[in-house]
Amino acid sequence: MTAYDHVIVGGGILGASIAYHLACDGAGRILVLERNALASAASSRAAGLILQVSTNDTKTALIKRTRRIIDILSDELGEDIGFHAVGSLRLAASEARIEDLDGMAAEAERHDIPFEWIAPEEARGRAPWLDIAMVRKVGFLPTDGYVDPYLLSMAYARAARARGVTLRPNTAVADILVADGRVAGVTTAEGPIACESVIDAAGAWATLLAARAGYALPMAPVRSHYWITEPDSAYGGDHPVVTMPDASAYTRPDVGGLLLGIQEKNSATFDARDLPEDPNAFSPTVGEEHWDRLAEASDNVGRFFPGVHEARFANYIAGLSAYTPDGKIVLGPVPGIDGFLAAAGCCGSGIALSAGIGAAIADLAQGREPRYDIAAFRPDRFGTVDPFSTDFRDRCAASRATKSRRVQRL
Ligand SMILES: Cc1cc2nc3c(=O)[nH]c(=O)nc-3n(C[C@H](O)[C@H](O)[C@H](O)COP(=O)(O)OP(=O)(O)OC[C@H]3O[C@@H](n4cnc5c(N)ncnc54)[C@H](O)[C@@H]3O)c2cc1C
Repeated sequence: MTAYDHVIVGGGILGASIAYHLACDGAGRILVLERNALASAASSRAAGLILQVSTNDTKTALIKRTRRIIDILSDELGEDIGFHAVGSLRLAASEARIEDLDGMAAEAERHDIPFEWIAPEEARGRAPWLDIAMVRKVGFLPTDGYVDPYLLSMAYARAARARGVTLRPNTAVADILVADGRVAGVTTAEGPIACESVIDAAGAWATLLAARAGYALPMAPVRSHYWITEPDSAYGGDHPVVTMPDASAYTRPDVGGLLLGIQEKNSATFDARDLPEDPNAFSPTVGEEHWDRLAEASDNVGRFFPGVHEARFANYIAGLSAYTPDGKIVLGPVPGIDGFLAAAGCCGSGIALSAGIGAAIADLAQGREPRYDIAAFRPDRFGTVDPFSTDFRDRCAASRATKSRRVQRL
């Protein structure tokens, strides 16, 4: 008999959510192996935006589930996970972005997600620092908001543990054991662990793990970053999340200040083989001045947020997200190895997608048809790739530049 039914590699938000969903199904003995502390990599650095309407129908459904699970977890744990239900404003200043916004309104209606058209003046009423001179159309989604990503990750983990999942931090997986085309277990420094299914939820390192089993996952680590001002009454209190796709930027409130995130045209991308095992031992902005990156974007952002030039930014947070060339997740069975599943390549939306991904993987791991149509996310959709090559990594980085756009116009 195997030691575990399901072994999940990676104790970030995806590993924790998958464990929680498997445990909710009573799926047997479940083990999460994390080589550092739980939620110590991307899942503790995210801006935590939960914007429910995506550029893809299934992604919208996956995110909608997360919005619902946040309330369920709060009830289960008997404490507030701290979802900030401030809503989100989406601004459009160009024909292409108006077209996107019209598409999003239709998508919101299809998924029964509240969406309101509001006048630009009303948007400024909600976010007083906005310059609306160029803004032509605004959508407001009142049930969107943001969450502390670490608290949500740990809420999944704690709820999973309460349902019998074993969480083992400080335990690295060295290898995937495969016998007769089927996964047989994993190896750690303490020895092999036999199991029926292995789920690769190793974040930016997921490619390395899959490569050990001989499969090249189509994703690459790409830098994401944001700046936070010191507390300043100019930004108001609990104003909505604001997305400005014409400026490839977003904001949200942060303890009395303003958090500003920017999607660069050419985000830094890395060879996963060069990443250290400890994310805290690595800065994706090494050798560069992050103020230069902010200055480059300031004119563009300043069209909507003129205060960007004088804002007193006090904090800078950078981390790695795994991106794919088409901006879609890598989710599903790894071809050629029965029982090996991948849940990675979240393209900067892993917090928002977490519950939907957890549910879909729980279905697959138990041999069921996934409850969501995840065919578009299958790992082999690009054919054979070299995820470490510069050309492939550049394609992944380019998909970050157009992340929040429906109509891809580079
Ligand atoms: C600056 C920034 C802002 C972001 N903002 C948002 C946002 O607003 N909204 C949103 O939805 N998403 C956002 N994201 C993206 C989000 O953080 C990620 O998509 C999400 O955290 C991915 O979760 P994960 O569990 O896959 O990865 P991670 O949290 O990175 O976890 C993977 C874990 O696997 C472990 N691991 C790797 N290899 C092994 C091994 N061999 N053995 C054992 N353990 C291993 C690692 O130590 C790590 O802890 C942002 C990301 C960044 C960097």
